[in-house]
Parts: sequence; C-alpha cells; structure tokens
Amino acid sequence: MNNALDMIEAKVLSGQRLTREDGIALYDSNDLARIGYLADTVRRRISGDYVYYDVNLHINLTNVCIGQCKFCAFGCKATSDRAYSLTKQSVLDRIAKAASDPDMKNLHIVSGLHPDWPYEYYLDIIKTIKHTFPDMHLKGFTGVEIMHFVKISGKSIREVLSELMEAGLETMPGGGAEILDDDLRKKLCPNKATSAEWLEVARTAHKLGMKTNASMLYGHIETVEQRIDHLLTLRNLQDETGGLQTFICFPFEPKNTQLESCITRTSVWDDLKTMAISRLMLDNVHNIKAYWVMLTLPIAMLALGFGANDIDGTVGGEKIMHAAGVSSQKSLTKNSLIAAIKEAGRIPAECDCNFNVVRTF
Ligand code: SF4
Repeated sequence: MNNALDMIEAKVLSGQRLTREDGIALYDSNDLARIGYLADTVRRRISGDYVYYDVNLHINLTNVCIGQCKFCAFGCKATSDRAYSLTKQSVLDRIAKAASDPDMKNLHIVSGLHPDWPYEYYLDIIKTIKHTFPDMHLKGFTGVEIMHFVKISGKSIREVLSELMEAGLETMPGGGAEILDDDLRKKLCPNKATSAEWLEVARTAHKLGMKTNASMLYGHIETVEQRIDHLLTLRNLQDETGGLQTFICFPFEPKNTQLESCITRTSVWDDLKTMAISRLMLDNVHNIKAYWVMLTLPIAMLALGFGANDIDGTVGGEKIMHAAGVSSQKSLTKNSLIAAIKEAGRIPAECDCNFNVVRTF
C-alpha cells in the first residue's frame, strides 16, 4: 500500500491536476509499473491511440559555438579539428538529395551560436530554403538561438521572430530549455539564454501564432525538485499561451562532454519514470515525445506505454546527439518506424511539423 500513490491515482483518474508535491512523490516511488499505467491512462485520454512521426531531415548549419555548455558534445571553437560550417549551397544540396523521397517534407534546423555569422545570414538561409523548396515545412532555431539573433541584430524578440516567420519559419523546436533554473544554468551554460529569456521567446512566438516545442535535459546535476519545477514552469506557460505542441525529455549523454568524468548516463528506469511523470504533470500539453535517437528505438517503443504519443521521425543527418556517442542508428526508414509503432499496439500517424496528419496506417 502506498498512500501517496493512492491519492495521486485517485486524482489522475478523476482528471484533477497534480501538484509539485505529487510530482516529487512520484519520483520517490519505485512502483514504475503503476506510474506507467497512470501515464498511459492520461495519454489515452489526451491524445488517443495515434503515435505521431514525421519523415524529416536534420540540418545543423555549424557546430562552431560561443556557448561552451558543460553538457554539450556538439559545440566547439572555430579552431577545433571538429569545427565545420555548411555553405548555403551544401545545405540546398543536402535538402535536394533528401527530397528525392517524396514523403520527406520536414526540416529541423538547429545549430551552434556562430561567433561571426550575422543575423541576416540566418534570415537569408530560411528565405532561400523556402523559396527553393516551397513544400518543405521548416522547424528551426531554439529559444537560445533566437536570443543570440536578438543580441547580434539589436532587434527585439518580436522583430526577429516576425522576420523569420515572414521568411518561411513555421515552428520552433524545444531545445535550449535544459532546466529552467538560473542557478543551474549559471553552472552549466552561463553563456546562453536565461530561463526568463527562453520563456519570453516561446511566449512571443505563441503570441505571433507560431507553435513551439519544449524540452527538459535531465540526468546531470539537477535535483528531482528542479525537474518538477521545470515541468510546472512549462505547464504555467502553456496555461497562459496554449502554444506548446510537444514536450521532449532528453536524458543527458555525458560522453565527450565536460561532465564525462563525473556523471554516468541515467538508467532506463529513470528515463521511463521521467517520461511518465512528464505526461502526468503536463496535463495541458498534447504530445509527449519519445525521442528514439537518445532512447534507442526499443526503449522509445517501451516509452509509448509510459505516456509518450510521438516518436519523432526518420531523422536523417542528426549530428548533435551522435556527437555525444549515442548508440542509436543515424537514421531510420519510415517503414521501420511504422513497424515499431504497430508492434507497440498503436496507430502510426505521419504528420508535418505542425501535427497536421498526412496519413495513418
Ligand atoms: S548546447 Fe547549444 S549553445 Fe551550448 S555549446 Fe552546445 S551548441 Fe552551443
């Protein structure tokens, strides 16, 4: 008998909102099966039996970055042997090659904070991609990148977002949120957007009519309380704007980062519990993503029973997580994603980056 879990179950089954104390009690419990059952119940109620995926290409324009975040294996200095920066033509060539698959309609563009590229470069590349490939859906630039553009352009968040939207940007990914706690951010990533700045970018995007995602990077130096507070901060934002499409929890991959020697990767147990608790706490966000690139496909399939209803996409060209040595494949075929979703007993729903369903299987 677990009184705290009994009370939480009663709340979940009657549709009541969970509190901070409930979230912490869920982390304190070792009854993973029961937490998973509760999350799956909420998943069915909120988003039904469809599991969303897209056929997509990741484009990381450069890994040169002024960030130097302790948890990052991707960003580096311009002088590093690993440094690269794509030319506009090579970006177009990559898209053209991927677009030979007629189902490939979604681009995911995130990059390092390049010390020398002007804001106009980013605007131009979005305009050029949209002009050359008008049918492509463009998801791009985290809240951290948008704040970088604000700083290098001298424009406001609203001006930057409006100009990018006019150029063809349709939605934003959820990266850069990490844990929205400034004490933690000062220790881990002091050179990038503060919590308030990240939130203001998302809020402004929502007011301008652009949907965004949100994420949580967990399993480094944060506490369970900071994880729950992060989820509650996002829940409050969603109550205010309704503009969050999807929440993604990223387990921290220590390999090749500044924290490699002192932190070990989270357990599958923690990953599934965090997935389930995210579903339970974020009662106002429609989609919870099991990002197979970080979880591996078998664990992502399992996560579909722990509250997730989105498995990301075919993910051609991903570099950021693979820089940290994740063991998953570089990309998956559409058929293997469909098979994985069906094997998990759910209905595959192919969508664009705004969750418009293209077809179901
Ligand atoms: S997390 Fe982003 S901002 Fe930080 S170093 Fe890596 S690429 Fe740069």
